[in-house]
Amino acid sequence: MIVVLAVSLALLLTSAALLLFYYHGDPWRRLCLEMDGKLPARTPERLVIDVVGESIERFGGITRVVIEDVLRSALSVYSFSNRVVSRFESNETEVQAGDHVMEVRVYLREGILSEDGWGFVPGRMCGNIVFVQLLDDRATARFVFIHELGHYFGLYHERGTYMGHPLCPETHGERFSERQIEILGRWDHPGTEYEKHWFLMKEDGRENFGCGT
Ligand SMILES: [Zn+2]
Repeated sequence: MIVVLAVSLALLLTSAALLLFYYHGDPWRRLCLEMDGKLPARTPERLVIDVVGESIERFGGITRVVIEDVLRSALSVYSFSNRVVSRFESNETEVQAGDHVMEVRVYLREGILSEDGWGFVPGRMCGNIVFVQLLDDRATARFVFIHELGHYFGLYHERGTYMGHPLCPETHGERFSERQIEILGRWDHPGTEYEKHWFLMKEDGRENFGCGT
């Protein structure tokens, strides 16, 4: 009798856990999958970054000045930044042939949902949209912008670089590795096939979180 009760209880708990997981999950999963389909097929002649707020509002005044400054400073670590233009007002940059338009959605407060759906993160790459929170500390904010744009440009996590895993901050470093520079090199040559960012290194088993080692 006790065994039957114990088994029933175990089954009940497992079902409850599965149900909880199923209904929780990642609320942005559908959006990110849809936006995944809007990534460029090939590296563009020019990348136009549409900069908006969390409710797709446009930034003006001092907020715009600060965001523009952090964004420009973050982009400066990329060799192809001269072919990246930002657009804060919809009429600012005319889209030309060979352009690809992507979106950077800047949160001024916490609110970017993590992939596991249980909390907030300072940044998230979501297909053709990159979410970033403008953290108060300018240097950290810049780091988050570099990191998330790095995912967009094709990089996954690698210790000791701008792409250090967010769960192990001690492994961050203000540099790119040779392998990362090679991957980023695709953007120096417009027309090169765009490879899917976050799965690229995850799948070949070379990703190294390196937490605590
Ligand atoms: Zn990351």
